[in-house]
Amino acid sequence: MEILEIKKPGEKRKKARALLLFSGGLDSILAGKLLEEQDVEIVALTFRSQFFGAGQAVRLAGELGWPLVVVDISPEQIEIVENPRYGYGRQLNPCIDCHGQMVRIAGQLLERYQADFVATGEVVGERPKSQNRQALGLVEKLSGIKGLVLRPLSARLLPETIPEERGLVDRNRLLDIFGRYRKKQLELAERYGLKEYPTPAGGCLLTDPGFAARARQLMKWRGKLWPGDIELIKTGRVFFEPDGLIVVGRDEQENEKIAAIAGATDILVTTAGVKGPLAAVRLKEASPLAAGGVVESSSHDAGVNRAGKDWSGSLPGPGPRTPLDDASASTGRGAELARMVRQIQEGTIRPEKPETGSFEAEIASRGVVRKAGLLVIRYSRRARDKERASAAVIHRGLVYELEFQQADWKDYL
Ligand code: SF4
Repeated sequence: MEILEIKKPGEKRKKARALLLFSGGLDSILAGKLLEEQDVEIVALTFRSQFFGAGQAVRLAGELGWPLVVVDISPEQIEIVENPRYGYGRQLNPCIDCHGQMVRIAGQLLERYQADFVATGEVVGERPKSQNRQALGLVEKLSGIKGLVLRPLSARLLPETIPEERGLVDRNRLLDIFGRYRKKQLELAERYGLKEYPTPAGGCLLTDPGFAARARQLMKWRGKLWPGDIELIKTGRVFFEPDGLIVVGRDEQENEKIAAIAGATDILVTTAGVKGPLAAVRLKEASPLAAGGVVESSSHDAGVNRAGKDWSGSLPGPGPRTPLDDASASTGRGAELARMVRQIQEGTIRPEKPETGSFEAEIASRGVVRKAGLLVIRYSRRARDKERASAAVIHRGLVYELEFQQADWKDYL
């Protein structure tokens, strides 16, 4: 768990301080505003992981003038996705466990940030599975800080909390919002002069049907979720083969991203002499550390993993890029590979035939590598109409050729 203080909270100056779980969505903004009206100081706490970013929260906390702490929960969230205690939502989103974990972490940080309690923007009945009364109770149970979780928007529908009992917050000035109808929230937004209404909970890849399907396949194929694999399946067309995983770029940008994400042991395949996609092949026997994009910390839109890779491109939800997003995928090894791919496609670098019996020939003959070769030709408009076409295999700094005839890929068309 990595903690990043975007705007460091200073010494506590008021009678009460709340550590507010802040997504940047309207509900969490309103929860903070309601508490501020009661002279409670706000320290915003947001999370990021490989599946969602913190860009929106960073920007909005800045606009609201709230101190902000970002916690990276990538490894913890992967464990939860693999093994949720309370199951999944519609897709691969284990929201009850995930919220429970966030509140638990917030509870662990109370002392560090001199906060008296945790506040959230949750609304009873707003989400059928994760925000009904029972689910909110489970979240509190998982968090281990019973009585210290205040939900200002629905507080009067819920049991009294310790900050209310202690008089830090006046329960009568908290609200009793219920359900999905957001009229009350929109009225409040107007009252507080909030001009934009960020979408609630947007941006978590685990709720995206396409990504969730791929991640499920990945869990089945690999038996677990490796961080490097997760990065790879965020991009392009994904194929799971018995002996390897293939990801094929759909445009120049995805080609560059694949080049940036590819790990030391990945095999890259592209069209030789004509423009076309770049594919990465990750053999099933690859080790997690060599399998590229090993994420030690951080998340997509808000950050960069320690290998300097930008995770932001696949964010489905809203949220502009922030200064935290600016690490470039086009530096270092990735940029070099992308350049090499362009030169191969332009014909400046010509792949060589691997020597019979060599290690390279063995790699080139593997089913999954041949399939990647056929796929890049299939998806290249310029290559697929030819009688014969070549794919280039890039592995360990060598570039060698895989030759095909139209009969080989015509079934793919
Ligand atoms: S939507 Fe994603 S980030 Fe939000 S609680 Fe659910 S799993 Fe966690």
